[in-house]
Amino acid sequence: MTAAEPHVARNYAPLAVTIASGEGAWVTDPDGRRYLDMLAGYSALNFGHRNPTLVRAATEQLGRATLTSRAFRSDQLEPFAAALAALCDKDLVLPMNTGAEAVETGIKVARAWGYRVKGIPADRAKIVVAAGNFHGRTTTIVSFSDDPDARDGFGPFTPGFVTVPFGDADALAAAIDDDTAAVLIEPIQGEAGVVIPPEGYLARVREITAERRVLFIADEIQSGLGRVGETFACARERVVPDVYLLGKALGGGIVPVSAVVGDEDVLGVIGPGQHGSTFGGNPLAAAVGHAVVNMLATGEWQERARLLGAHLEKLLEPLVGHGITGVRIAGLWAGIDVDPSVGTGREVCERLLARGVLVKDTHGQTIRLAPPLTIRATELDWAVEQLSVVLRG
Ligand code: PLP
Repeated sequence: MTAAEPHVARNYAPLAVTIASGEGAWVTDPDGRRYLDMLAGYSALNFGHRNPTLVRAATEQLGRATLTSRAFRSDQLEPFAAALAALCDKDLVLPMNTGAEAVETGIKVARAWGYRVKGIPADRAKIVVAAGNFHGRTTTIVSFSDDPDARDGFGPFTPGFVTVPFGDADALAAAIDDDTAAVLIEPIQGEAGVVIPPEGYLARVREITAERRVLFIADEIQSGLGRVGETFACARERVVPDVYLLGKALGGGIVPVSAVVGDEDVLGVIGPGQHGSTFGGNPLAAAVGHAVVNMLATGEWQERARLLGAHLEKLLEPLVGHGITGVRIAGLWAGIDVDPSVGTGREVCERLLARGVLVKDTHGQTIRLAPPLTIRATELDWAVEQLSVVLRG
């Protein structure tokens, strides 16, 4: 059998579907077959495929200027940064492109803050992270991953990270010492299968980090920007971290846009020449990111995720014990553990594909639903009906 993409390096194992176009929650293959997209680019397409408002913002900007580099100012970056800072209730935005770059930037900011502000001796700064994390694919980031597929064979690894169990605030407190610059966690672990920490955990992390003078860095790259029914997953516990790491949906599913957002006393530690990116904050990215922020500023998308999420929860709960061993839901985001007697997560995804529903497995037995927030309740009904048929075998 000839590989479908013989010239594409095999760092992914895509499902057997080829997308030629997309609109809202639907995509179409080259033969005209339609599929309901229940993954939404791992939350990068929170506002759907080719959202008209975002396409308009991109198209208008394409007609003006696309790249200046940060050697010069553009008329798009400051307005975008101001709007994003306001959305986050912070002072400063450091724009990058991919999620992994935002995480790398957050690590550098934490270390710089640790040395220059907290007074940690040179080269001793530590960052506490959580087991089961997924923060991206760079060599430093995989250094503190505990996923053998992501990490094994890519050493030597970057030192300076301490791993504690996710959801255990006492373990986190015990891991902090005078050399700790930051705690870096996903408020809800997406790639791990939408793993939601026990109630009160994020609030305790906030308390502990404030008491011990350690930065709380929240990786909201997948959980943030409306997905969970709030602007940020941290807001579920009314928690404001010191630093937000944002990406995915910030680019509206059009261009890669990521950002590190924090107050002057933290992000102000980075000066000219110490960090940057040729494309970070480019005018096209800034125009699209600004349009995304404007959409989120109304609160309607967060509300939609809450209402549709409640609907999805009602649809999924009856399936527990019928092909599903467990389900975790936060807003319009669900991790579903498939009963091994039904098949693997991948097999369930393949059967769903045959019925016109696109989802993706994670970690063997789990499938993750993260449909665009534009999806209709009736479309969710149909998707879960397909899932229940597949689970019945
Ligand atoms: N952080 C989190 C929580 C993520 O889910 C991801 C991607 O899935 C990343 C970071 C990395 O983002 P990117 O793939 O854009 O580098």
